[in-house]
Amino acid sequence: MIKKIETPTPFAVGTVNCHLIKKDALSIIDVGTKTPEALEAITAGLKEEGYTVDDIEQVILTHHHPDHIGWTDAFPNAKILGHVYNDAWLRRDEEFIGSHYDFYMNLLIEEGVPEKFMDWPKRMTRRPDMMGTRPLTHILKDGDEVPGHPGLFAIETLGHAQSHLAYWDEEQHALFGGDLLISHTSSNPLIEPPLNPTQKRSKSLLQYNASLKKIRSLPVEIVHSGHGKPIIQAHELINERLEKQHRRALKVLQFIQQEGPFTVYELSSLIFPAKYQKELGLTLSHTVGQLDYLMSLGYVTESSNDRGILYYGAK
Ligand SMILES: [Zn+2]
Repeated sequence: MIKKIETPTPFAVGTVNCHLIKKDALSIIDVGTKTPEALEAITAGLKEEGYTVDDIEQVILTHHHPDHIGWTDAFPNAKILGHVYNDAWLRRDEEFIGSHYDFYMNLLIEEGVPEKFMDWPKRMTRRPDMMGTRPLTHILKDGDEVPGHPGLFAIETLGHAQSHLAYWDEEQHALFGGDLLISHTSSNPLIEPPLNPTQKRSKSLLQYNASLKKIRSLPVEIVHSGHGKPIIQAHELINERLEKQHRRALKVLQFIQQEGPFTVYELSSLIFPAKYQKELGLTLSHTVGQLDYLMSLGYVTESSNDRGILYYGAK
C-alpha cells in the first residue's frame, strides 16, 4: 500500500508529500512542516485508511529540511529512521548547530559578500524551531534495507541536502525520491555545513549530479516525490535536468570569459539580477554549484586575495 498525503507548508514551495506505506510495518515517509494545518492534513490522510497517529510504527525521513521533518513528534509509538546528518539536527547537536554560524560567515567572506548582508548567517541558525525534537532511533546508511519493509533500500543521494536518502523499492521499481527529483521544478543543491566542522564544505552540485546518475542506473518506473506529482519518465527528466544544468553552467562560463575574474557574489548578481539580494542564500549556493561544476571540467580556476576572498577566472 502506498498512500500519498499532501500537506500544506508556509513556504514558497507550496505543499509537501508524505507517503504512508505498509508491509510488515506501517510507516510514513516524511512528516510535513510543524504547523497545525500540516498535522491536520496528515491525521485526515491516515483516517482515510483507518489509522491514527498512534498506529504508525516508523517515521522514515528523506532529509532534514523543515518541510519534511516537522512532525516527528506526532507519532508517539514510532521509531524514527534517517541519515546520520539528520540526527545531528534532531538532537540539536550543539557543536554541529554551533558550527553553522562560523561556517556561513566564512563562506560569505570567501564569496565576497558585502558587509551589509552579513546578518544572514544569524537567520540560518534559527531553523531547529521548525523541527521535531525526538532524535532518530535508527540510522540508515546507503544500501541499508529499511526495517519492516523487505525489498526497500535506502540510497544515499546527497546534494539537495547533506542528509538526503531516497528509498528504492526493488520489486515495484518505485523510488521514494524526497527532493531529489521534482516534476515541476529543479531541485536546489544547497551548501550546508559538514557534519564534522573541521572538514571542507561538500560540493553540493557535483554530489547532486552524481545522485541523479545513481538513480538513472536503476530501472525506475515511478518516483514518488517530496513535492508535486509522481514522475513516470524519470530517466528522461534526469537527462533533461543534467543537460539544462550544463547549459546554465556554460552561460556562467561566458560571463567569466568575457569579464572575469569574479567573486561568487559578483557572479551571482550577474546570473540573478532580480533576486540575488532577496534570496541571497539560494542564489549564492547556486552560483557556487556552477563554479564547482566548471572547475571539475577544468574550465575555471580559483584564486584567493589577501583578505581571503576567492576569485574565479577562465582557464
Ligand atoms: Zn522539500
